[in-house]
Amino acid sequence: MPSFWYKEFVCQLCGNDFSYPRVFSDAIIVESRDEDLKPNFKGVNALYYQVISCPKCYLTLFERDFGTLEIPEDKLDKVKKVLENAKKEFGSLNLGEERSLDDAIKLFSIAAAVYTVMEHSRGAAEAYLKLAWLYREKGLEKEEKIALAKSLKFFEKHFKEEITSEKEEPMILFYLGELNKLLGNRKEAVKWFSMLVNKYRGVPSPYIKAAQERWQEVRD
Ligand SMILES: [Zn+2]
Repeated sequence: MPSFWYKEFVCQLCGNDFSYPRVFSDAIIVESRDEDLKPNFKGVNALYYQVISCPKCYLTLFERDFGTLEIPEDKLDKVKKVLENAKKEFGSLNLGEERSLDDAIKLFSIAAAVYTVMEHSRGAAEAYLKLAWLYREKGLEKEEKIALAKSLKFFEKHFKEEITSEKEEPMILFYLGELNKLLGNRKEAVKWFSMLVNKYRGVPSPYIKAAQERWQEVRD
């Protein structure tokens, strides 16, 4: 059974249209999860394909944003600069089906930088979290920690400044707790886990279940 299908995208920055590999949902098999719920896949590593990258201008965003998220006029130059730098630093990108961990690290590095200069804290938080997971797969602990700290900074900014949707709030609160815990800020971790558990008690969600367990751990 094939693992990939192709979807058409139109780049909102340069107008390029291209087809890009997507992973069939049947081919996504989560074998286990780390403590911060990082999925570990059997077979295709679906994480590698979660950002869409324009082969022409290198604009790289999560699928929900690619082709749709408007790049504000006053951020255009900064985004273009990031993409020019990526071209210089990385050369050609591998956007095919057969991708390595290093290929994925490049793509998530670009996405994290794009969301950062766009001041899009929700996107930056997720891009840095997933970049940290890729560094973990590669065994680069120092880089992982730096990316986790950046992710936390953007999750905090997002929670403070923007409207977090009710659907997403358990996930955001979980990562505010979990990233603080991973970075050694116990008190802060307890604060966020307890907020999540108290506010969403009884709601079925993997984030709430995990937060209840972590809350016990950090309090003990
Ligand atoms: Zn483009």
